[in-house]
Amino acid sequence: MPNSTANFAERLLAWYATDGRKGLPWQRNREPYPIWISEIMLQQTQVTTVIPYFERFLHQFPNIAVLAQAPIDDVLYLWTGLGYYARARNLHKAAQQIQKNHAGQFPHTLDQVVELPGVGLSTAGAILSFAFGQTHTILDGNVKRVLSRHGAVEGWPGKTQVHNTLWEIADELTPKDQTAQYNQAIMDLGATLCRRSKPDCPRCPVKQDCSALTKNAVAQYPVPKPKTKKPVRQTFMLISINEQQEVLLERRPPVGIWGGLWCFPEADETAQLTISQQLSQFRHTFSHYHLDITPVIINSKVKPNSNNNVEEPRPTQWCNPSAPPAVGYAAPVKKLLAMLANQPIVLS
Ligand code: SF4
Repeated sequence: MPNSTANFAERLLAWYATDGRKGLPWQRNREPYPIWISEIMLQQTQVTTVIPYFERFLHQFPNIAVLAQAPIDDVLYLWTGLGYYARARNLHKAAQQIQKNHAGQFPHTLDQVVELPGVGLSTAGAILSFAFGQTHTILDGNVKRVLSRHGAVEGWPGKTQVHNTLWEIADELTPKDQTAQYNQAIMDLGATLCRRSKPDCPRCPVKQDCSALTKNAVAQYPVPKPKTKKPVRQTFMLISINEQQEVLLERRPPVGIWGGLWCFPEADETAQLTISQQLSQFRHTFSHYHLDITPVIINSKVKPNSNNNVEEPRPTQWCNPSAPPAVGYAAPVKKLLAMLANQPIVLS
């Protein structure tokens, strides 16, 4: 059991030595590439969800050079279901940047690493401390939760001022030695004991001076995001079916919602289209809004065209819903393809 009078870092390190997570797939060696991939996947996603995606990704793209040369469709395909697809597009772009600017070697300095698309200060610090043993502060979601509670920090951590306060605290607490173990320890504490719900405070190595626990107010920290009602938007997904029972998909532009993914063409309204069947509406929720999707089967002779005059024409392909090609799909499209595979639509 950690000595209760030791400082914060010493207590965490002692706890980590006995109770930390040590067998995660990206901890097998200290190579920067798998650590980088895991850190990006772990942004906004739980460890248990990430593990199979990580294993498949590393199997198909074992190093930076292979990832840089891969078609973006292959990268997005392996990301399908993980969400926040900008992460996959940024990984791909960053791999190409490393090939071009760093001769294929993952960069070693904080300034160079934060230059990579999709890598912020905390992620860069985590990669450099885990891969090269450098001393850098981190402040991911788990660490924010631990520090918000331990220091009873007021205010929603998404606010710049609160974020800066937490960063200062994190900076002060991070030891110069054993930084990698300390960073892993505080992440593990947040993931395993100082959990979002039902934290296990009796087993916590820093409970003696945890301000939220002392105030009996653990549930009040971190202060939640101020509630705003998500707006609801509507869209029609246009399902065009040919005689081979294939459906027409188009690739969305590389930026924006579902960037680079293959989707059914969409329309705001269907007045101009010949609809042969309307399927049940369902909702897909993004971080900022709900999208109510109405799938409609349209006459295949009508060429769907969701492009406006300003956009480049989008690539299209006919796809068998029972054997869709290995490209990236938006979650609702994957769901609709599975539904069409199970219950093929018979056109009259
Ligand atoms: S005592 Fe509880 S709330 Fe405080 S840091 Fe530990 S687990 Fe989190």
